[in-house]
Amino acid sequence: MKETTTEILFPKAVIERRVGELAAQISRDYAGKDLLIVGILNGAFVFMADLIRALNVPCTVDFVRMASYGAGSVSSGEVLIRKDLETPVAGRDILIVEDIVDTGFTLSRLLEILRERRPASLKVCAFLDKQARRRVPFVADYVGFPIPDAFVVGYGLDYNEQFRFFPDVRVLRDIV
Ligand code: 5GP
Repeated sequence: MKETTTEILFPKAVIERRVGELAAQISRDYAGKDLLIVGILNGAFVFMADLIRALNVPCTVDFVRMASYGAGSVSSGEVLIRKDLETPVAGRDILIVEDIVDTGFTLSRLLEILRERRPASLKVCAFLDKQARRRVPFVADYVGFPIPDAFVVGYGLDYNEQFRFFPDVRVLRDIV
């Protein structure tokens, strides 16, 4: 069995400051709008909880869970909704909140699905962005931190369901 170790990439205080900046920008952009924040389970729940508490505008929340079929842990082009929204989105201003954009398959598929439901607007806020790993063109409207191609955990992100509870973001390293 492989053992792992972690190294802090973004400490808690740095994350707090950046989430505050994102929330200020989102609050300005959504003033007077009908904001529905859609979190992608499970990874986005910590970021989303901090983000909405730093907003200065009202919002409601809902969640989706996506399933990706393909080899190993890398997502493939075949992405489905496994748990759908419970809120109708027609005419509403939707902001999707995601933990990390990697290949871009998950978010581009979710955008396609939600666009068909005719929201008034549809944007994406990703906490982390691994641009070097993109397999399909995708640009998030709001990004917490661009990161290099490394596997990260903490602040909601897991490795085999572990490490979500870390208050910081860490790079996972294998000790073979
Ligand atoms: P995409 O469809 O963009 O390839 O997949 C995004 C999903 O892959 C994220 O929501 C996350 O679940 C997973 N993922 C991609 N990179 C990482 C990473 O560095 N760490 C963790 N924990 N999950 C990742």
